[in-house]
Amino acid sequence: MPLLKEFRYHSPATVGEALKLADKSKEPLLLAGGTLVLNYLKRSPRCPSDVIGLKKIKALEGIKDSKEGVSVGAMTTIAELLDSALIKKSFPSLIQACARIATTPIRNMATIGGNCCSRFYWVDLPAVLESLGAKVVVATSRKKQIVSLRDFLSSKPSKKAVVTRILFPRKDLWGCYFRYTKTMDVDIPSLGLAFACRRNNSKCADVRIIVNTTTSLPLELKQTQKLFEARELGRIDPNQVRECLDADAKGTKLDEYRLSCLAADLGNLK
Ligand SMILES: Cc1cc2nc3c(=O)[nH]c(=O)nc-3n(C[C@H](O)[C@H](O)[C@H](O)COP(=O)(O)OP(=O)(O)OC[C@H]3O[C@@H](n4cnc5c(N)ncnc54)[C@H](O)[C@@H]3O)c2cc1C
Repeated sequence: MPLLKEFRYHSPATVGEALKLADKSKEPLLLAGGTLVLNYLKRSPRCPSDVIGLKKIKALEGIKDSKEGVSVGAMTTIAELLDSALIKKSFPSLIQACARIATTPIRNMATIGGNCCSRFYWVDLPAVLESLGAKVVVATSRKKQIVSLRDFLSSKPSKKAVVTRILFPRKDLWGCYFRYTKTMDVDIPSLGLAFACRRNNSKCADVRIIVNTTTSLPLELKQTQKLFEARELGRIDPNQVRECLDADAKGTKLDEYRLSCLAADLGNLK
């Protein structure tokens, strides 16, 4: 069994303290729920000099509702999201995605911040969050910024920046999430599809269709989005859906199997 290598462990109580520690450290590593980090610490040939635990930082906790939208602390676990009445009511697609992540012990530890910051192409939440227009609050020792999730994921990762909260500026979006795995067991997704739109009477508006696992960034299906705009779900020609998907797939790793999955589920949306 691989053993942990030596490092200094810190448990700051504020974001400011965590940032100071990260700035002073030669090779810092932030630790949230640890579902990925602990594996990395055991298996990676590189070892951080300092592991900075975020668990005691109160400012990274809690799900808050306001006129400006919903704000979710980066240390909120997948299990807490699943338990939240506010998330259930406002973002059903997020609940659908969380319910499919791993197993209860992992969901009790894994955080929304860790899911977004891991930058693995296959994790479930970035596609859903992007479909819902989520923004990320990023703090460094010099500044605090609010950026779109896409800008955050496109930027160079920094070991000296703490994501403090995930913001959902819009609560008027309906959405759903489809997830496809290679096996029927607990498995990481081979494809995830997040759909969101405002339902304007029975028509769709502000349509967002995002998929994961095909590119390092969640992929926006722009042609397919356009097709759904101002149309009624359940009344779109499946052949047109497939044509738009084919156009969006050009230059991506969306293969025939994945395209068929997307066409079937998008075609059946009601
Ligand atoms: C058995 C198993 C099954 C899994 N199945 C799934 C699955 O089905 N779907 C899925 O999406 N994921 C899955 N995962 C991946 C993982 O559990 C999740 O992505 C999880 O949400 C990561 O969160 P964490 O809090 O454990 O992150 P950690 O492991 O603590 O951190 C992950 C990375 O993010 C950085 N980080 C964490 N928080 C912050 C922050 N606030 N600011 C800046 N950087 C930060 C860390 O430094 C690290 O680089 C699985 C993992 C395991 C071990």
